[in-house]
Amino acid sequence: MITEIRLGSDGNKNFDALERYAKNTGISIFKTCSLEGLTDSFHPALMENPFTVKMTAAVSMAFHLSDAILEGIFNQPTPHYAMHYNRVNSLLDDAALKITAIIQNSGFNAMPVPASQIIDKSSQRGYLNHKIIARAAGAGFIGRNNLLVTREYGSRVRLVTVLTDAPLKLCGPAEDGCGECYKCVSACPAGAIGETPGQFCLAKCVEQISKFQRLMFVAKGICGVCVKACEERI
Ligand code: SF4
Ligand code: SF4
Repeated sequence: MITEIRLGSDGNKNFDALERYAKNTGISIFKTCSLEGLTDSFHPALMENPFTVKMTAAVSMAFHLSDAILEGIFNQPTPHYAMHYNRVNSLLDDAALKITAIIQNSGFNAMPVPASQIIDKSSQRGYLNHKIIARAAGAGFIGRNNLLVTREYGSRVRLVTVLTDAPLKLCGPAEDGCGECYKCVSACPAGAIGETPGQFCLAKCVEQISKFQRLMFVAKGICGVCVKACEERI
């Protein structure tokens, strides 16, 4: 129960209590990181909020998408995946709200950042980039597909972030890379994925996703092809 959990001054205990709670709500990966050096990547609109600069840490949470639903994707998204995508975003937002409630009830500040909200259409940016936070927190690395790649589930995850000033044990970044894997490169129908994440062509990806959106009559632009291609790496 949320009301039974109280955080204190011990960052290790706080981390354990929040991780335990998050995992009980269905979260697959729970990590934290310092915000030092990361606020430069935030959208200016987030920095306009005077509470943003009070935050010292981020909680990064990932949900493992249904492998069974992803296996139904071949060269385009399915209605099944579209619904799953939306429901997973809702679960992540719910988990972020519950973590926020625990932190605030304990007398600290917490700011959940929605799992899937674009506030700047031209750059396709949200308030912050969840994968940058997740990478800094050690949940994974940025792969050739320009997505977070986790050891446990590859890119088959969705992410959410909570910013906070609560004392927390902090996780470090995990260094890794795609190595000899090129599965997403050959799978991408737009030819958007290159040798390195820096060569990823966002314009080609966005154009392909817009085509899918018209074809599939889905409200949100989704694809899922390179998500399916990137499986667990353990
Ligand atoms: S989301 Fe689709 S179009 Fe974009 S890079 Fe991945 S496979 Fe290619
Ligand atoms: S499918 Fe392979 S190459 Fe593509 S991001 Fe995942 S690990 Fe990297």
